[in-house]
Amino acid sequence: MLNIPLESAEDLYNYAPCGYFDMTRDRKIVRINETLLGWLGYSREEVLGKATFNDWLNTGTRLYIETHFAPMLHMQGYVKEIAFDVKIKDGSTLPVLINSSYIKLDEKQVIIRSTVFDATHRRRYEKELLLAKKNSELLAEELKIANEELRQFAYAASHDLKAPLTNVMSLLDIIKNRIHASSQDELKPVIEMAHGATSRMSELIKSLLEHAVSGKKESSKSWFAWNEAMEEVRFNLQMIAFTKNAQIIFEGSFNQMYASRTDMIRLVQNLISNGIKYCEKDRRPVVLIRSKEYSTCWEIIVEDNGIGIDPAHQKEIFKPFFRLHSSKDFDGSGIGLATCKNIIEQHNGSVVIESEKGSGSKFIVKIPKTSFLSPDAHSSVRSETARQV
Ligand code: ADP
Repeated sequence: MLNIPLESAEDLYNYAPCGYFDMTRDRKIVRINETLLGWLGYSREEVLGKATFNDWLNTGTRLYIETHFAPMLHMQGYVKEIAFDVKIKDGSTLPVLINSSYIKLDEKQVIIRSTVFDATHRRRYEKELLLAKKNSELLAEELKIANEELRQFAYAASHDLKAPLTNVMSLLDIIKNRIHASSQDELKPVIEMAHGATSRMSELIKSLLEHAVSGKKESSKSWFAWNEAMEEVRFNLQMIAFTKNAQIIFEGSFNQMYASRTDMIRLVQNLISNGIKYCEKDRRPVVLIRSKEYSTCWEIIVEDNGIGIDPAHQKEIFKPFFRLHSSKDFDGSGIGLATCKNIIEQHNGSVVIESEKGSGSKFIVKIPKTSFLSPDAHSSVRSETARQV
């Protein structure tokens, strides 16, 4: 057995890895160990017979002690793991956990004996845990939204792809039934229709693929010359502009932009081709692209003189496969604006539409310059996007 000297009991009390103190009912400190004195920064003389427990508490904590600690102690005869901060001599505070119990000395005298644990680390872990919990709740919420979007997307994609496929299958049935009896001329329109349906399906799949890769997190952002990118847009659209006799006007500019060049080209191109497409048949489409640089963002406005968009549908048109017009009136897949939204969100930007039915449309896109500076700035702009889109 270990031979522990008697005086070490006192030693154990004074230098235990926790604080001890006794106080009277009126909270005068009558006994205190060295550990607690060390934590509080006082000498034994400054405390014994002079200080009260209340001297260690700020107003808020005192209120808490009166309303929770004291009544519980009175009712149960003890309290366990009560957490609060005590003031220390240098003016700072120490987070502690206190266990207290009533000790009856005789019929009249009672003291309150307490153990005090330094809760600095525990408090820090609690804060970290809380933060981690909050973050995981946020992630779970984002995941829920993403899952719902994915579900809607999968539903819309399968629904839209099924229509032309059903057409092709019916047309192939017709061909099968007529193949022996008919001349080639009779089959020609059926084959043409089947061809039309398969091309539509192929267009849909192409748009879907484009949508799937648009605005992907890893799509590389870099500095690029805006004017050169817009020259590429003009080149890519020259054929459609020629066939529709459309006028595309670029105004203003900025030298350099930090973004995914491919995404920005796709974004502006989609908006311009919609501007050309959604125009009255007897009107010459005119699309004006204005680029302006501000201290906080790059602004791109694409304005057309087309059929306009009813304000009631201005949110919905960003959903995948949502179309306001049938393919008979205007050909399309309903993916273009969903792709634009993806790209804008991936750049933490925002888009607003100014349009009335029948009087042209204006898409105002803002890409914040913070998108490449601080990750924190992202969330605020993202919530702005969510509100505006
Ligand atoms: P798509 O043009 O392939 O149908 P989009 O996603 O680009 O798909 O557009 C979704 C819908 O929004 C279109 O079907 C159209 O009804 C409407 N829309 C988009 N841009 C314009 C515009 N500039 N003017 C009028 N309507 C538009």
